[in-house]
Amino acid sequence: EILSGLVGSEMCIRDRGNGVGYGNMRIARIAHPEGMAFAIVEGGQPDGTGATCREIAGHPFGQPEFTGKSWPIEDVRLLAPILPSKIIAVGRNYADHVKEVFDKSAEHLPPTIFLKPPTAVVGPEAPIRIPEWATRVEFEGEMAIVIGRPCKDVNRNNWKDVVLGFTIVNDVSSRDLQFQDGQWARAKGLDSFCPLGPWIETAVDSIDIDNQPIKAHLTHEGKTETKQDSNSNQMIKSIPEIVEWVSSAFTLLPGDVICTGSPPGTAEMVPGDRIEGGVPGLGKLAN
Ligand code: MG
Repeated sequence: EILSGLVGSEMCIRDRGNGVGYGNMRIARIAHPEGMAFAIVEGGQPDGTGATCREIAGHPFGQPEFTGKSWPIEDVRLLAPILPSKIIAVGRNYADHVKEVFDKSAEHLPPTIFLKPPTAVVGPEAPIRIPEWATRVEFEGEMAIVIGRPCKDVNRNNWKDVVLGFTIVNDVSSRDLQFQDGQWARAKGLDSFCPLGPWIETAVDSIDIDNQPIKAHLTHEGKTETKQDSNSNQMIKSIPEIVEWVSSAFTLLPGDVICTGSPPGTAEMVPGDRIEGGVPGLGKLAN
């Protein structure tokens, strides 16, 4: 009853049946010359260069209905691919990142769950705005799960039934606020501290979730350095385990985003820097 009262959820349950059944699709949200819409990104390079954006009607949770309108990707602006009701994040999910931030072994500091507010979300190429009082702001390039249907208490073996696809997230964090405040709401929840994108890759069946290279490159004063260079095989809790764990705590709604944790190599960003996260098969997210 609670679920059917939520906007869009009823339609979602009716349309989707079991599993995702989308095949391989890249779902984007775009600003185009006539307005805003969800669109399927087709063709072009893995990073989207030369692709076409085909507009779909309504929301992206059923089988997509094409409106017949399309634009070259160069003629539209990619927005955050989804506006989630909540962003649930797993912290301390890579042992080497636990060591670099907390100076303790992962054995003593197991993974944890925290929330980022929806107002933190921005899309590709949008600026991350750092208030003066939020000091030592670092990027955390991560793989993100996008939920496709309402669910609660999902068994890890059934994770594919509830996942729409994957995208990239930058879990921007003020380390100073994180330690000053004790809890992480301000440190990780400020406006623009949750860049998402570039699109949602729905190839849930074909992506090898336990072997995804995850990288982040920081450009500072014209010089680009690779800061994060890891792999999802280093996660302490795997993606199926994360879906089970997070859904044991919260009802998940279509569009909700789960950040799977940051690999090591996070570093400070200062105004004017450019940060680009990449997961092959998911594209690139730059801000
Ligand atoms: Mg993180």
